[in-house]
Amino acid sequence: MNLFNLKGKVALVTGGNGGIGLGMAQGIASLGAAIVIAGRNEAKAADALQTLRDMGAEASFLTADVTNKAECVALVAATVAKHGRLDILVNNAGTSVRKQPQDLTEDEWHHVLDTNLTSAFFCSQAAYPEMVRAGGGKMINIGSMMSLFGAPFAAAYASSKGGIVQMSRAMATAWAKDNIQVNAVLPGWIDTDLTKRAREQVSGLQDSVQKRTPSGRWGTPHDMAGIAAFLASSASDFVTGTAIPVDGGFSIAM
Ligand code: NDP
Repeated sequence: MNLFNLKGKVALVTGGNGGIGLGMAQGIASLGAAIVIAGRNEAKAADALQTLRDMGAEASFLTADVTNKAECVALVAATVAKHGRLDILVNNAGTSVRKQPQDLTEDEWHHVLDTNLTSAFFCSQAAYPEMVRAGGGKMINIGSMMSLFGAPFAAAYASSKGGIVQMSRAMATAWAKDNIQVNAVLPGWIDTDLTKRAREQVSGLQDSVQKRTPSGRWGTPHDMAGIAAFLASSASDFVTGTAIPVDGGFSIAM
């Protein structure tokens, strides 16, 4: 029995061209799955493809703006056209606008919700019939510590990430009958482009995170590879609707 063999499987990772998405793509690729990464920035994608191919993975990039429903549908269709199937979907693309709630504009609110939550709904909905056709599948949705906690600068972001957890639970209950497991991952503070901007905008963040995290450090994209491998593989076939922190203990520390 090999619980961690993904040879012959196909994974689509939104925002897989950098940061946490690339870390997760590497974890899934290490088990043998073919990887399609999706995003907007082609230069970043070229580096990510090199990283995946250096591991021996079959990897390709598709350009998509996941805030657009038609592009999500086309993304799933192009993945299936290329590989004949879709087994694993990682809804990872995300963004943040850090402002006090009273200062967030309507456009900023919608931009964050569209990028972080509605995109995951569109991609999951498009992927569902393909996973049914494949006899099952794995959906991995990226939440956040802001799925659990509040912060003054995160009204839109925390709403989107709380929504990710509840959407995952709802879809898990709906699609368990189809052998599709839907789970959320809640990363702690991970060193990426997104949090580089956060550290510039929120004073003292670098040190306060390090101090509060029992592991005593920020996470790296590589720290996200193992949970992706687990949730993408048959080792997690009886795990569904959960929200798993991968946070060095941030969420359990006093
Ligand atoms: P990055 O900014 O490095 O990655 C975000 C990715 O999302 C990019 O690859 C970007 O690709 C893609 N993306 C953003 N908007 C769109 C869009 N409209 N269409 C397609 N792709 C898009 O940040 P992280 O790796 O940190 O973030 C990844 C996920 O993890 C996000 O959901 C984030 O909220 C979440 N997260 C991050 C934490 C952290 O500490 N870093 C903590 C908790 C959660 P491109 O630029 O090519 O469009």
